[in-house]
Amino acid sequence: MKAIDDFLTRHAYPRWALQAVFFDMDGVLFDSMPYHAYAWAKTFRNHGFEFSEYDAYLNEGRTGESVINEYFLKTHGRPATKAESDMLYAEKGRYFIECGAVKPVAHVQELLHRLKAQGLDIYIVTGSAQQSLFDTLNTHFPGIFVREKMVTAFDVTHGKPDPEPYLTALRKAAVQPWQAMVVENAPLGVRSAVAAGIFTIAVNTGILQPHELRNAGADIVLNSMDALTALLPNLISTKA
Ligand code: CA
Repeated sequence: MKAIDDFLTRHAYPRWALQAVFFDMDGVLFDSMPYHAYAWAKTFRNHGFEFSEYDAYLNEGRTGESVINEYFLKTHGRPATKAESDMLYAEKGRYFIECGAVKPVAHVQELLHRLKAQGLDIYIVTGSAQQSLFDTLNTHFPGIFVREKMVTAFDVTHGKPDPEPYLTALRKAAVQPWQAMVVENAPLGVRSAVAAGIFTIAVNTGILQPHELRNAGADIVLNSMDALTALLPNLISTKA
């Protein structure tokens, strides 16, 4: 497969030998991004700041504190105080919860079962610290995920787009970069995975233009989990 050949050549890796697949969570496993985008846009609008839902998608993966600080720097010329940041983040959190229960991304379960059946190791690599979502993993994806095979906000010092989360995943899974691939949906997550030297598939599950994901460095950009499931035979093959 050309994308894999190009990837191996670019990094001077010896071969393709897929053993582990690293999944981002928001926008890849859970269809939570429309709720996050709505909640951010509404919160900032309440405070007289133009921040579109598209802006929320572009910023996906950054911490809430970092998004709020950028708003303060633009509008007040200074970062937010802890109290201001907490207040806005709480307001955003209330709008998010009002949206209701989060559902899995369409057809991602089938993809996970196919990977598991192939004997591949499946990890979650997320900047999230949302205990409520971790708690529902077993409900929506029974038998797929275990706590030892997760890298969350609690496990890293520098979040995406820093490579630390994906470098941590390589270490936990005890695999080399040519033995893993990443499934991401957001530009900052793609940057993190690419900086860690891992083959990165972006599945555009939201409203972004595909070039945002290509420009972030994704090796492949797809528009659905079904499209990724269809590609699996090419990705699992040891003949790159
Ligand atoms: Ca994501």
